[in-house]
Amino acid sequence: MTTTVPRFEELVAPSHWRTVDFISDLHLQASEPATVGAFQRYLATTEADALFILGDLFEVWVGDDALAEPGSFEAQGCAHLQSAARRLPVYFMHGNRDFLAGTGFLAQCGITGLSDPTVLVFDGQRYVLSHGDLLCLDDVDYQRFRVQARSAEWQAQFLAQPLATRRAQARGIRQESEARKQSGVTYADVDGPATITWLQAADAHTLIHGHTHRPADHALAPGLRRVVLSDWDAAALPPRVETLRLSRAGLERIALAPMYERS
Ligand code: MN
Repeated sequence: MTTTVPRFEELVAPSHWRTVDFISDLHLQASEPATVGAFQRYLATTEADALFILGDLFEVWVGDDALAEPGSFEAQGCAHLQSAARRLPVYFMHGNRDFLAGTGFLAQCGITGLSDPTVLVFDGQRYVLSHGDLLCLDDVDYQRFRVQARSAEWQAQFLAQPLATRRAQARGIRQESEARKQSGVTYADVDGPATITWLQAADAHTLIHGHTHRPADHALAPGLRRVVLSDWDAAALPPRVETLRLSRAGLERIALAPMYERS
């Protein structure tokens, strides 16, 4: 597949931001209470001046009308985001699982939507932020689905179905993807040359992304790098609960799991 260079939105960090946190791929779901709890504690305690969520915060999002269901998992998650957003600015980028989170979700949580990709200008440095799925070029079937699922027509059709039907469909898709995972299939990774093309087009030096669940720092070319966020699983041994923190000193991975251990 050829690389198409997307349009880069730009966000200039206000000068009073000393630290910015990046997280992604928490895949929050009611059946994973340890990770949900870790996220709540993180939101309540982070000392960052801004939080950027780079996709797949939720395992699935079937429509903003789920927020109106009393006591729904979505409504609870939104309440936690809302209380965090009173303390610090929270930015939300779609992932491939929660791409249907819409303006109703953003408004109810009091958080700000972020285009994929966005260039964050922090302390004079330019960082490209993306979920990462768009750069997994070898996943041809997924790229085809992505084009379809991001169209207004597909979304209107999906959202026109009753909420219960959408929830059932999401469960079906999840079971299929679990089965695929169990079968030991190897997932496509972010494409190196395409990343370099993006960075050059954005006049940036670092791509920060999630999606692949392969946390690492990759040197791509002199001065160009790709930093991959960890997914979260607070019930794993060892637990994966991590934020990537940007300050004037640079990027630092901070393992949050130890401080969240309960006696
Ligand atoms: Mn993803």
